[in-house]
Amino acid sequence: MRLYNTLTKKIEEFTPYNKNEVTLYTCGPTVYHFAHIGNLRTYIFEDILEKGLEYLGYNVKRCMNITDVGHMSSDADTGEDKMLKGAKREHKTVYEIADFYTKAFFDDSAKLNIRKPAIIKKASDQIDMYIKMIEKLLKEDYAYISNGNVYFDISKAKDYYQLSGKNPDELIIGAREDVELDKYKRNPYDFGLWFTVSKFENQDMRWDSPWGIGYPGWHIECSGISIKYLGEYLDIHCGGVDNIFPHHTNEIAQSEAYLGHKWCNYWLHGEHLNDATGKMSKSKGEFLTVSLLENKGYDPLAYRFFCLQSHYRNQLVFSYDALDIASNTYTKLKNKVKNIKENANGEINKEIVNNYQNKFKEAIENDLNTSLMLTCLYDILKEDVNNNTKLEIIKSFDNVLSLDLLEEKEKTIDEELVKYIEEQIAKRNLAKQNKDYETADKIRKELEEKNIIIKDTREGTIYEVR
Ligand code: AMP
Ligand code: ZN
Repeated sequence: MRLYNTLTKKIEEFTPYNKNEVTLYTCGPTVYHFAHIGNLRTYIFEDILEKGLEYLGYNVKRCMNITDVGHMSSDADTGEDKMLKGAKREHKTVYEIADFYTKAFFDDSAKLNIRKPAIIKKASDQIDMYIKMIEKLLKEDYAYISNGNVYFDISKAKDYYQLSGKNPDELIIGAREDVELDKYKRNPYDFGLWFTVSKFENQDMRWDSPWGIGYPGWHIECSGISIKYLGEYLDIHCGGVDNIFPHHTNEIAQSEAYLGHKWCNYWLHGEHLNDATGKMSKSKGEFLTVSLLENKGYDPLAYRFFCLQSHYRNQLVFSYDALDIASNTYTKLKNKVKNIKENANGEINKEIVNNYQNKFKEAIENDLNTSLMLTCLYDILKEDVNNNTKLEIIKSFDNVLSLDLLEEKEKTIDEELVKYIEEQIAKRNLAKQNKDYETADKIRKELEEKNIIIKDTREGTIYEVR
């Protein structure tokens, strides 16, 4: 298999440390809000990677973290903890926020047929591991204490700029006015391993440590969880391109300092999904979630199909027009498969099945070329062969594509429930208009207790039944 490795900036032949076993670490969500469909594009790519490797015959052991502590609004370790921001926004505790949005993340992932990784660990559950690592980093002088916090000294790291390919002279934090400098760092790019609460007093999650009560920095969680659950040698580490610097750069620095040897061989990054205005974000413009698409009548798998049409290393621009086209193509595809299924006939031609599976494998081996995988699928639809052979091949491809090509989903709509929800939303809107926020909040809570989640968007109130 050939994969583009961000570390070497080359397409390379993939060879795992251990024959057929692949260890795969994928950075998980920061659970302070719903995941937007951009975030989910990255998880779709990672899902295809895991299933593609399996198709090629590898055993994949995949681990993912859930970031529920320590992720600051700015990459320079300044700004507010994102979890606290979520808690304040919704008048809940950070634990409630984390539970709610973790569940929402997995619900959305399931709708997109993204498989749950075998190992999932909450950042806040692994404090002992971070303390163990930080103690060693301090002992070996990779880290230092300043103003009660523990920082990693990047000048001690080998090849700190290799992954990002950045030129250190051009990197001047603080040149940007919105980024506040942490004056206790020796180098502005040093990063926090452990913060004592003096830095952010209103931090809810806090633990005892040799350096005082506090909480871990964001980067240490992925190194700690990965090393603890996947071992000291990692085959593949993934994330979106925004993770390259500083997150993954810092993960490499601290992991290799801690381990004393090279840690991960292949670094894969998914390009972003952008909207017409540029970068998609959770705080700007229409907040594009899976539920929003569903409320607008789209099948979430049409979005998966939309993503698979382009390569994971290309930027993808989202628009409803583009999604409409993908959605129509997906419906036509499903109808064609349905037709084949309804007219199933003939004996399976094993040779043709093999040929197609090999072609499909080549597409996977070609740096996970999903559009080529789809081409293989369209080719078999056109092939002059009996329908049972076609179905066998489609079934096999769908193990990776996960587009439910052979399933017929009947959407059942509970009309009574829809009527009730719409009435409640109308009542709430009226209360809001009358500035009666108490009633508005009460209605929202009552709906929430029935697992009906509502959200106010620029285009009005949307809801989701979970
Ligand atoms: P977060 O929840 O912010 O930690 O991000 C979760 C994942 O989504 C990370 O792997 C990010 O790199 C990725 N990500 C963030 N924004 C986008 C985007 N617009 N398109 C694709 N992936 C993204
Ligand atoms: Zn990570």
